Amino acid sequence: MILNFILIWKPIIEITLLWFVIYHIMLFFEGTRAVQVLRGIVILLVAFFLFQKFGLEVLEWLLTKLFAISIIAILVIFHPEIRQGLARLGQRHLFGTPLKEEELDYILNQIVRAVESLCKDKRGALIAIEKNDPLNSYIGSGILVDARVSSDLIQNIFTPNSLLHDGGLIIQHGRITAAGCLFPLTQDASLSRIFGTRHRAALGLSEETDAVIIIVSEERQDMSLVYRGKLQKDLSREDLIFKVKQILKLAKENV
Ligand code: ATP
Ligand code: MG
Repeated sequence: MILNFILIWKPIIEITLLWFVIYHIMLFFEGTRAVQVLRGIVILLVAFFLFQKFGLEVLEWLLTKLFAISIIAILVIFHPEIRQGLARLGQRHLFGTPLKEEELDYILNQIVRAVESLCKDKRGALIAIEKNDPLNSYIGSGILVDARVSSDLIQNIFTPNSLLHDGGLIIQHGRITAAGCLFPLTQDASLSRIFGTRHRAALGLSEETDAVIIIVSEERQDMSLVYRGKLQKDLSREDLIFKVKQILKLAKENV
């Protein structure tokens, strides 16, 4: 009886655990250069098993040596990504509860109304919405707010003579928790010079966390979205709402 139970459940438990580990390894490397390396490793592994199966000993021996060397090379070359990934893994809410759809609709509407108005008035803004990775470590560089998300408040914060207008605003669990926060600047040297520190700070934060970041450019008067190291610029109000909802996994079929 017990033996039967173990025989049935063992593979299920093993597959579930394996899925969990693979999923988190993928999350760990998502949005980094290491994704390509991961693909390369999978190809090498497949080649290794094929060489073994067909008894191609010289190739198998060569690949074994290559593996040993490449592990050291990967650790050296990708140490920033590994460090970032470990930091994210340590901070991640594994079983966080997402916002209700109506709450998200309300918050997004308020944010987009503020952002549109700031854009029209040629005022810059930087707003980071927390997803799974906590943004707590960036709050310390700014001022604690803890307020309900409202279009008026966001516009007020980003008014040029407000004390909080410099830096980024953080939204966590549907509330504005801090303003005037400093985000890490991206080190991406290939980024166009048209993007200054505001855009670089958004990209930098998105490389370290899975936050969804909205930027209003005061120079170009456009609205951009940054997620996982990718910037989408010149978005319309509808695009912005749709894309943010999609990222926060609450997009309706036909929005
Ligand atoms: P814009 O298109 O609006 O001009 P930009 O990308 O060209 O934006 P800057 O003109 O350099 O960027 O914007 C400067 C503003 O960006 C600062 O006033 C500040 O509010 C914000 N900023 C700069 N660095 C950071 C940072 N590390 N974290 C958060 N905000 C920052
Ligand atoms: Mg500028």
